[in-house]
Amino acid sequence: MYNRFFDALDKEGVECTVRRNTGNIGGDYIVETGNDREHFTDLDLEAQEKCVEWLRYNLVPAGKVLHNHTSYGMKHILQDRTNVYMTNNAFKELMLLCGFYPSEPDTLNWTFYVKKTSPMFMTQADGRQGLPMLGDPMDYHQAEWEYEHGSWQCSDCGGEPGGDSCWTDAEHTPVYAYCPNCGVKMKIH
Ligand SMILES: [Zn+2]
Repeated sequence: MYNRFFDALDKEGVECTVRRNTGNIGGDYIVETGNDREHFTDLDLEAQEKCVEWLRYNLVPAGKVLHNHTSYGMKHILQDRTNVYMTNNAFKELMLLCGFYPSEPDTLNWTFYVKKTSPMFMTQADGRQGLPMLGDPMDYHQAEWEYEHGSWQCSDCGGEPGGDSCWTDAEHTPVYAYCPNCGVKMKIH
């Protein structure tokens, strides 16, 4: 089912071209989507690792193409959960890096062989799509929610847990067990 991808490899596309990466940095493929030549490996290493980790537990492969979610929409969900901004082109490279191939490589917005019930597309308990950054449950480094300047923030990254009014209330600690911004585990008091 991935014949189209490998057939199109190294051939100049109209909307999008995928080439084998002959360099020694990054994944196996280099993507160019029109003028969008921004690459996933242009991001700093910490951001790259965060995105790869997040995608691994948020997307489930499938035998059929999912048509109603494209690379463009998916990168926004990833951005909402990881706070990492990237272009559509860089997101396509991230997907290839994680082993997800597009159904039609020569298109502006890629669709993939993924389940529509993947965590990424499911509305979670906080009303947003995709799982929050969980970090590594076996990492015993912990941070705390601290109340400063009228709102709660993560003692590690300074990130705020969300726009919900309850998290500006000094009486109520945020409900997240992990910081949704950096993924560190929070001490439960
Ligand atoms: Zn944090």
